Amino acid sequence: MTEHQTRRGEGGVSAMRLSPAMLWRTRIPRYRLVGRECLECGRRHYPPRPVCPHCGSRRLRDVVLPRTGTVETYTVIYTVMEGFRDRAPHVIALVRLDDGTRVLAPLTDVDPSGVSTGMRVEATLRRIRVDGDTGLIGYGLSFRPLMEPRQGASK
Ligand SMILES: [Zn+2]
Repeated sequence: MTEHQTRRGEGGVSAMRLSPAMLWRTRIPRYRLVGRECLECGRRHYPPRPVCPHCGSRRLRDVVLPRTGTVETYTVIYTVMEGFRDRAPHVIALVRLDDGTRVLAPLTDVDPSGVSTGMRVEATLRRIRVDGDTGLIGYGLSFRPLMEPRQGASK
């Protein structure tokens, strides 16, 4: 395992390594969040896995998940690994998407003191680091605050 792989495998970031050319070809769905839905139990998960984490079935299909959701819980990380120093402190949140799927991902574009449970967020795909040796770019899912007009109703 290389040093780069070691770094990238941590931090709760689901990352893909793609060259710019490959990115163009495959057209990473910046506005589509693709997870999987189990054909046995009907539950969804993200990131996509070969086996349903809920019931163990291998009968799964790709499904486009809603890009918006609500912060259920979160934690602020003050200690970060080498290569991510400019990101401290950062926030890892458990986001409940609007279809009920739970996703663990970092929050971006927000000060940790401004995060709260129940906060509305939307998915975004961000470049998380550049591999200087190969020119490869890592992309990872994160969520940012969703700016939407309030409905006026109080809970
Ligand atoms: Zn299942």
